[in-house]
Amino acid sequence: MKYILANWKMYLNYEESVNLAKQIKSLDTEDNLIIFPSALAFKEIVSMGFETGAQNVSWAPQGAYTGALSAFLYKEVGAKYALVGHSERRYIFGENNEDVRKKVESCFDVGLTPVVCIGETKEDKDESKTQYRIKKQIMKVFDNLDIGNNKIIIAYEPVWAISHGGEGQPCTPADAEDVMGLIKREILEYTDNEIPILYGGSVDEKNVLSYVALEDCSGVLVGSASTKIDSFTEIIKELSDIN
Ligand code: PEP
Repeated sequence: MKYILANWKMYLNYEESVNLAKQIKSLDTEDNLIIFPSALAFKEIVSMGFETGAQNVSWAPQGAYTGALSAFLYKEVGAKYALVGHSERRYIFGENNEDVRKKVESCFDVGLTPVVCIGETKEDKDESKTQYRIKKQIMKVFDNLDIGNNKIIIAYEPVWAISHGGEGQPCTPADAEDVMGLIKREILEYTDNEIPILYGGSVDEKNVLSYVALEDCSGVLVGSASTKIDSFTEIIKELSDIN
């Protein structure tokens, strides 16, 4: 069954989050749907019976870290997943590969599944550094990582394809396929574990099937379109037809 991850970012206030969740609930979908709401709406969305994930976690478990929320704290209120290394965290908030690795390990420590976002920037792409960037990001996550019985998901999100609320420039399925194939081969250098690979970046109701049809694509991470009930309903319908 393909994954549908809905990253609501900081788009919705509390009331809008709860209302959207109610509308999604009424679709009664059987899909592998995971919602990443704001921290403020988190418990409410959990109590409605959704699988949920944190949009970000601190690598420290608890303590004097003003404003931070850890994997440990999210786990306690019902999270099962956490986005780690989202490009908005990397490029707006300055997180690096070392931070990402520590966050992956902090998720493992409490039994959350990290969804690690990787992808090249526009600059990388223009300078033909996509392979270099992807290989490095994967190496930093997987080198000597003790996965044990934990799960980990990789989301390929070309940074230049993320919509930031406006019109994004989606990656062509053919280009996504090339990079996702590379990701799959690279991961095999480090582990034989089954690691789902998702695609994210301007996914909407019109293009979602073209991504999930790709051989190495286990689902999608949807930002902006997951916050609009009409688009998201269509995405869910498209996927439930093939799931
Ligand atoms: C994202 O930021 O994870 C994302 C996929 O955003 P969008 O769908 O809005 O491009």
